[in-house]
Amino acid sequence: MLIIANWKMNGSLAESKAYFESLDVAGGATVVICPPFPLLQYCGEIARSVSTVQVGAQNCHWERSGAFTGEVSVKLLCELGVRWVLAGHSERRRIFGESNELISKKVRIALQSGLGVVVCIGEDLQERESGSTMQVLEQQITESLAGIVIKDAASGILFPNPEFPFDQSQLVIAYEPVWAIGTGRVADAEEVNSIHQNIKALFSFPIQVLYGGSCNDKNASSFAGRNGIDGLLVGGASLDSHSFSRIVKAMSLQ
Ligand code: PEP
Repeated sequence: MLIIANWKMNGSLAESKAYFESLDVAGGATVVICPPFPLLQYCGEIARSVSTVQVGAQNCHWERSGAFTGEVSVKLLCELGVRWVLAGHSERRRIFGESNELISKKVRIALQSGLGVVVCIGEDLQERESGSTMQVLEQQITESLAGIVIKDAASGILFPNPEFPFDQSQLVIAYEPVWAIGTGRVADAEEVNSIHQNIKALFSFPIQVLYGGSCNDKNASSFAGRNGIDGLLVGGASLDSHSFSRIVKAMSLQ
């Protein structure tokens, strides 16, 4: 069970200290906190005292280093003790124009450097209403994982690319329907479970699939105990450590 807090552009040094002091994540789930870049080192130091908590970055650059003003390299993230990175969050896709092709470069460099990568995918409302959800997700997965997996022409199944060796347990998919992110409109857990099963069936190897989109401490338990749902990616409700602790607890009780 993997439960990730995405603070987005929120939080401060003082808030981080108070957050970790009241965070209660007993229960066995792996909990990853993704604060903004400047808080990674501080949060990482505090998190190390709580064994099940790790820190993750919300983004990274696709090159090792160079003239990329304002960007952050995976090398630096690793030096700071970061274990995970998000790639292709819908806000990065929509606000910052990130394409599947660019996301695939980030996924490749992050996996090569030993980071766990959470690749975010999701359909928008129009795509959902036109019945093309799975088609959209499959295209996002195939293109965002270009060079990492290879689609078998006959079966359509995605196999690991033998020319790109990586630890498959480090690759995670987050299904985050765009219409559910930050809207208070949570997806139906049964429907999410079946979409996750369909996503898993695209791969020749086992892959963890998380759900994200308006999860909170009231609805988290509906996602627990379902074999397609391996965890959650939580935005707004992760900003309050008490509420996030209750989400972790709800998911751990199954
Ligand atoms: C997210 O940003 O990944 C997310 C799921 O946000 P929220 O929980 O606020 O919908």
